[in-house]
Amino acid sequence: MNKQNIKPSYDVIIVGSGPAGLGAAFKIAENSDKSILLLEKKKISSGGLRNDCKQNYTYPVGFPMEHWEKEEVDNLLSEVKTHLNPKLETRVNVEKYQKRAKKIHVKILSIDQAHVGTDKSSQLINGLIEELNTLGVTVAIDTEAKEVSSDKKELTLSCGTILSFDHLILAPGRADYDWLQEQMNTLGVEYSDNIVDIGVRIETKEENYPIVRDYYDPKILFPGKVRTFCTNSGSAHIVREKYKGYYSVNGHSLSREYNNSNGLVNFAMLKTIRLTEPVVSGQKFGKILGQMVMQLSGGSVIMQRVGDFRLGSRSKKETFNSDIYDFEPTLKNAVAGDLSLCMPAKILRDIWKSLKMLDTIIPGVLHPSTIIYYPEIKTYSNKPAFINDAFMVKDAYYIIGDGAGTSRGITAAWASGIRAANDILSL
Ligand SMILES: Cc1cc2nc3c(=O)[nH]c(=O)nc-3n(C[C@H](O)[C@H](O)[C@H](O)COP(=O)(O)OP(=O)(O)OC[C@H]3O[C@@H](n4cnc5c(N)ncnc54)[C@H](O)[C@@H]3O)c2cc1C
Repeated sequence: MNKQNIKPSYDVIIVGSGPAGLGAAFKIAENSDKSILLLEKKKISSGGLRNDCKQNYTYPVGFPMEHWEKEEVDNLLSEVKTHLNPKLETRVNVEKYQKRAKKIHVKILSIDQAHVGTDKSSQLINGLIEELNTLGVTVAIDTEAKEVSSDKKELTLSCGTILSFDHLILAPGRADYDWLQEQMNTLGVEYSDNIVDIGVRIETKEENYPIVRDYYDPKILFPGKVRTFCTNSGSAHIVREKYKGYYSVNGHSLSREYNNSNGLVNFAMLKTIRLTEPVVSGQKFGKILGQMVMQLSGGSVIMQRVGDFRLGSRSKKETFNSDIYDFEPTLKNAVAGDLSLCMPAKILRDIWKSLKMLDTIIPGVLHPSTIIYYPEIKTYSNKPAFINDAFMVKDAYYIIGDGAGTSRGITAAWASGIRAANDILSL
C-alpha cells in the first residue's frame, strides 16, 4: 500500500496489525461497509503472529479473567478458528501427569493448541492480509501512527499526514507500551501498569522433558504465581530480543512439517509480580532488572548450567560445553555467568522451587546439563480505565490487545479485537 493512496478520512482506523488489530478489521469488514484503515509501522505486518504462532483454544489461557468469562470466550474462539484454521495438536497421557502434579499442589491444564512455526507463519499472515484487501480494508504497512489529537478525532502519521476518523482502535502490542502511555496521557485516559512477568528460559534435551511428546506446550501452574510458558520442541531454539534498554530471551520452534528435530526443548518459567505502592510501574521494574543483566553480562543475557547453579558456582565460557554438558546452547550470544547475582531473591527462590517440583513430576528436567537463561521479561499491560466492557476508553476510542492487558496471547488478542468491533457495529 502506497502512503499516497491513504484517504484523509476513514470510518475506522486501527493502529497495529497484530492479532488484535486483525480481529477487529475482519469483524468490521465482514459485517459492514465501513471504510477501514489498518496501520502497521513495520515493513511486515501482523505483529506477534509472526513468532512461533502457537494458538491456544481453551479458556482461560491467554484471557485475563478480570475481562473474560468462559461462555463468551468459547464462542469467540470458534470465530477466531474460522480465520486461523488451526490444526489442533493431539494430547495423550495428560491425566497421568496431572495425577502426579496434584500430589504436590501443582496444576496441569489440558489445552487445545495448534502450532504453525516461525518459518510457516508468514504464509498464514500473507493469506490474512490478502483476504483483508479483498474485503476492501486499506492495509498500510511501514506507516507509523505518531500521535492522536487531544480534542479532534484526528491521528497524525509519522510522515506528517493528518487523518480523521469516526472510531479509533489502538492495538500496538506490548513492546510499544510507552507510546500507548503517551496517547493515553493525551486523551486523558487513566491507567496503571503494575504487573510484570519475570523469569527464566530452560533449555534441555527432549529426553529430559519427554512430556512434550505427549503434550506440545504443557501449561503447568505452580504455587507462588509461577507457570510454564511457551514450550518449544522439534526444531527448537532460543533467541535474544531487543527491548528498550535491555535484552530478553524468548523461544521459537520451526514447523515439524518442514524441519528435522534438533532433539532440544525450551520453555519459560515465569513468575507474575504485582507491584503495589510506592513502586507501581511493572514496565520500569522489568527494565531495571534487564539493565542489571546487561551490566553484568557485558551487554547480553546470562546462561548457567543447572549443575553449576546447584554447586553455587558461576558457569564459565571455557567449561560450558565440556564434561557431562553434552549439548551446546542454541543461543550463541548468551554469556555464561551466575543467575543468583542478578535475580531478585524472591523470584529466584520461587522459580527454583517450582523447577524442583517440575523435576518431581517429570524426572530429568533438572539434569546438570540443563541450561537456565535469564532474563525472560514479559512487560504486560498498561491497564487503561475502560468505560465499557468492549474496551472503550473514551467515546469512539478503543484500546485492545496485549498492550492494553485485554489479552496475553494470539487468540485472546484476536478475540479482544472482535469485542471492540462488535461495539462499533452496534452503534
Ligand atoms: C517471540 C514471541 C513469541 C510469541 N509466541 C507466542 C505464541 O506462540 N503464542 C501466543 O499465543 N502468543 C505468543 N506471543 C505473544 C503474542 O505475540 C501476543 O500475545 C500477540 O501478538 C498480541 O497481539 P496484539 O495485536 O495485541 O499485539 P502485537 O502482536 O504486538 O501487534 C502490535 C502491532 O502494532 C504495531 N504498532 C505498534 N505501534 C504502532 C504505531 N505507532 N503505528 C503503527 N503500528 C504500530 C507493531 O509493530 C505490531 O506489529 C509471542 C510473543 C513473542 C514476542
